Amino acid sequence: MYRSHSCGELRTSDINKEVTLSGWVQKTRDKGFMIWVDLRDRYGITQLIFDEERTPSDVVDKAKTLGREFVIQVKGDVIERESKNPNIPTGDIEILVTELQILNEALVPPFTIEDETDGGEDIRMKYRYLDIRRNPVKNSLMFRHQVAMKVRNYLSEADFIEVETPYLIKSTPEGARDFVVPSRMNQGQFYALPQSPQTFKQLLMVGGMDKYFQIVKCFRDEDLRADRQPEFTQIDCEMAFVEQEDILNIFEGLTRHLIKDIKGQEINDFPRMTYDEAMRTYGNDKPDIRFGMKFGELNSVAQHKDFKVFNDAELVIGIAVPGGASYTRKEIDKLVDWVKRPQVGALGMVYAKCNEDGSFKSSVDKFYDQEDLSEWAETTGAKAGDLICVLSGQANKVRGQLSALRMELAERLGLRNPEEFAPLWVVDFPLLEWDEDTERYHAMHHPFTSPKPEDISLLDSKPGDVRANAYDLVLNGNEIGGGSIRIHDKETQALMFNHLGFTPEEAKEQFGFLLDAFQYGAPPHGGIAFGFDRLVAILGGQETIRDFIAFPKNNSGRDVMIDAPANIDNVQLKELHIQLDL
Ligand code: ASP
Repeated sequence: MYRSHSCGELRTSDINKEVTLSGWVQKTRDKGFMIWVDLRDRYGITQLIFDEERTPSDVVDKAKTLGREFVIQVKGDVIERESKNPNIPTGDIEILVTELQILNEALVPPFTIEDETDGGEDIRMKYRYLDIRRNPVKNSLMFRHQVAMKVRNYLSEADFIEVETPYLIKSTPEGARDFVVPSRMNQGQFYALPQSPQTFKQLLMVGGMDKYFQIVKCFRDEDLRADRQPEFTQIDCEMAFVEQEDILNIFEGLTRHLIKDIKGQEINDFPRMTYDEAMRTYGNDKPDIRFGMKFGELNSVAQHKDFKVFNDAELVIGIAVPGGASYTRKEIDKLVDWVKRPQVGALGMVYAKCNEDGSFKSSVDKFYDQEDLSEWAETTGAKAGDLICVLSGQANKVRGQLSALRMELAERLGLRNPEEFAPLWVVDFPLLEWDEDTERYHAMHHPFTSPKPEDISLLDSKPGDVRANAYDLVLNGNEIGGGSIRIHDKETQALMFNHLGFTPEEAKEQFGFLLDAFQYGAPPHGGIAFGFDRLVAILGGQETIRDFIAFPKNNSGRDVMIDAPANIDNVQLKELHIQLDL
């Protein structure tokens, strides 16, 4: 038996017990006549003591050879500690060692296995197994497990069944780029790894499974943006005989449950906002509503004077920055520079200070009098002491720019408290999205999303105005879930494919199996998928998902520990009938 107890378990009530522990040497302190060792395992740390008077001398000698991260087994007696350590649960006791076995020696680790390590990101990823020994990573993985269990239990209680869907599937042109896998047995043909189990979960509904979920890996070969992983995990769900309202209710319930159970917080407001409203009010389809700073549209109160910049603009909008009236000229200039950065792209910024005495001082006093500015304040909700920041230009662009500024200022003002949770639904997304590059419409969500029946007649005349039965779940400025009510009849699905530029032959070739299935009694259905990594990170109060993934890839999509992707040898290539043309 390697151990009778874990390293996090023993208390004063165990004093006088003879125990066996196994674990890693966290650190040793050698005082000559006395050696202390901190022994660590997943459960905690227990102090061992080797004492020249009470420990056999060969054991003491062996203890002197211990290095950091050696794996050892000890036998000894639990005794009361003289100087107690209130910081750890086992801090009242220590083990007076009588036997010591070195189970495995260890090289000196390339970084310290401490909560605050001296190892940078790269080295920690290369030796991720050592990194996982550190509390922050270990705790994050344990936290992820907890969240997964809660999700599984909740959905299982609600009659959902977890069904596995295949990883080797067929490549489809919509959405992101697929990862492909050559088939040895089918020369020249390729599988694709699923970007999501979308069509399979719909087929499970045709199969009568009624409520499906899966915590599942998905793969997207996208250019990696910050904090994206080429393989990531979704909580994927689908339900039959449901309307949008049913889905929102179930998954609002799940979200409330997780926040309550994990964070102890009751969510009172769970607003629903249309996509249009989100864009108009926050310039963003995933608004962070933990704080205000809502957009005020200023066209009617700013376009009647001689200020050409505003008069020429499609949209003039502003936000009130709480307490911003006290910013110095220099600070404001810096803000102006910030919005002019290429990443944001504004041409400039107009501002107005709302002084404590009720007067205003703006950067465009030449054009606007106090009365005008007080209308600006009213429209943006600015109070005395605030700063009104105004941007103008083409509507979509300027909304995006002001949204970036709003988030930046909120960050600087400490309004994005990670321990506060503000979920909402964004509903009524557009069905189609114009793509400048390919000069055609793409499905904004995916091609299986049903248009709102009342908007179908607009498909030919104003495709961009057709709304979808699609919804996103947003938490603290992050899209954590998205889904839709699906098309479940062959005609509408064929119509959609047609509008997405598929010929009937292409549609049949790509999605014939789905169109076929729809002819055998497909029930009305809909679903949602949550980004599990992100959800866990947000609930864990962290910004990056990487710490919650055991073996993440780096920003170039590489696993630096196993060194993947890598070349394969010629024999393998030959078997796969692949000729490299490098
Ligand atoms: N399959 C979709 C996605 O991965 C989610 C859904 O519509 O259920 O985004």
